[in-house]
Amino acid sequence: MPSICSIAKRGAIVGLSLALAVPAIPVAAWAQPVGLPSMGAASATELSPMLERSLGEAIMSQGRRDPTYVDDSELSQYLTTMGRKLAAYAPGAVPEVEMFGVRDPEINAFAMPGGFIGVNTGLIVSSASESELAAVLAHEIGHVVQRHIARGMTQQNQNSMVMLASLAGALLAALAGGGGNLAMGVAAFGQAAAINRQLGFSRDAEREADRAGLQMLTKAGYDAEGMSQMFGRLMNASRLNEGAGGGSWASTHPLSIERMSDVQNRVRAAQPVASRHVDSDDFWYVRAKMRVVQGRDAVSLRTAGQQLQDEAQALSGVRRSAAYYGLALQAYQRNNMAEAERNWNLASADGRASPQLAKLSVDIALARKDYPKALELAQAAAKRWPAQRALGIAYAQALQSVGRHADAQEYLRAKIKQWGSDEPSLYQMLAQSEDRNGKPVAARRDQARYYVMTGAYAAAESQLQQARSMSTDFYEQSQIDVQIKEVKDKLAEERQLLERFKSG
Ligand SMILES: [Zn+2]
Repeated sequence: MPSICSIAKRGAIVGLSLALAVPAIPVAAWAQPVGLPSMGAASATELSPMLERSLGEAIMSQGRRDPTYVDDSELSQYLTTMGRKLAAYAPGAVPEVEMFGVRDPEINAFAMPGGFIGVNTGLIVSSASESELAAVLAHEIGHVVQRHIARGMTQQNQNSMVMLASLAGALLAALAGGGGNLAMGVAAFGQAAAINRQLGFSRDAEREADRAGLQMLTKAGYDAEGMSQMFGRLMNASRLNEGAGGGSWASTHPLSIERMSDVQNRVRAAQPVASRHVDSDDFWYVRAKMRVVQGRDAVSLRTAGQQLQDEAQALSGVRRSAAYYGLALQAYQRNNMAEAERNWNLASADGRASPQLAKLSVDIALARKDYPKALELAQAAAKRWPAQRALGIAYAQALQSVGRHADAQEYLRAKIKQWGSDEPSLYQMLAQSEDRNGKPVAARRDQARYYVMTGAYAAAESQLQQARSMSTDFYEQSQIDVQIKEVKDKLAEERQLLERFKSG
């Protein structure tokens, strides 16, 4: 997903059209960069971090409705935790990073303006260790730290300008359609990726991102070798030019022998650490889940099932458990609960437990309509792993399933204080319980909050208008009026921002 380039024309002032470019950062970076930008001073003056964030949010608001967006709390919490852990050691200022999954078997990741970083399921599935995955994320964050996006925006490239204009046009059309309407066939992430391909980082930029990334990687406690191993894997995939997808990252992050040796030398020179990084259990369970999630057709699902079967037979410990978990998940998706339970039991052999397994057991009980059991399981799991957002959501769902909406509201309000900014779905669930509990005005206001947080301003306005007309309390009405005005302003702002790109 792409970056868009902004174009601050050098010399001649050509108005503001296309004054902003939003670069995306591709994950794999070994291919030949397309005409690299001369990093003129003009760029920095053109792109404020706030504008960059707004543009990233505009793409995300549509992207979240893109069929490739993986809406999964377990995945986004895992990735974002890793990204923030790495970014904490960045050799410079970074916006708060927000990572999200993209359902795509190609090995790729990309940074968008504003600190949003997309990670393909293919990258997660292909990583042989957690350090390999962290290495690619660290490299992407490295581009963000070095302001390569802002610099790339000054790059003049006719194709990317045309594509940026078309992306902005598509986003505007979706906006006009009410915020949640992708009927124009926008596929925001796909367009962004296409634009990204038109950019590409220079050798200097790649080297800087590698060095910054390696530093973050080791300081955050991952293995430096993860970077050379992953790069080797990408280089092979790129050379073979086979379906493995290495060419995708390579098309935006040019890989060369020189770059590879630079990384290898630095990895060798890195301080030997007392102990190697131990892959977290979460890594294996999330990876198994993504293998299932990324299957889009019968063939790829069968292949994923076969790989999981093979791993379940050949491996031991947490990796075997994760393979059975993947099989259980696949059966659950096929609505075969008996098989799901059989595999779940195998995954839990020897008393092995994990938040992902616990979440799946709640989902299976809910699917079986055994609500009291779902509640009991969810309550125990949320207590055992209190930091896991997916389990908090599961517990609230279980409370709702037995009709305990007052308890669900209280619980959700407490969780919103804790996780609200990272988990907009909590507001949506709160709205459901409020509605069921005879609080239609509060329900609409909270549903509006959910829409605002996901960038669906038009839908938010409609909820607030409904709340306004239902309310009989003068003070409440005036509060809602203020909210309506804020949402309208946001909508106008976004439209204006996109028009600037489009007019180019
Ligand atoms: Zn790169």
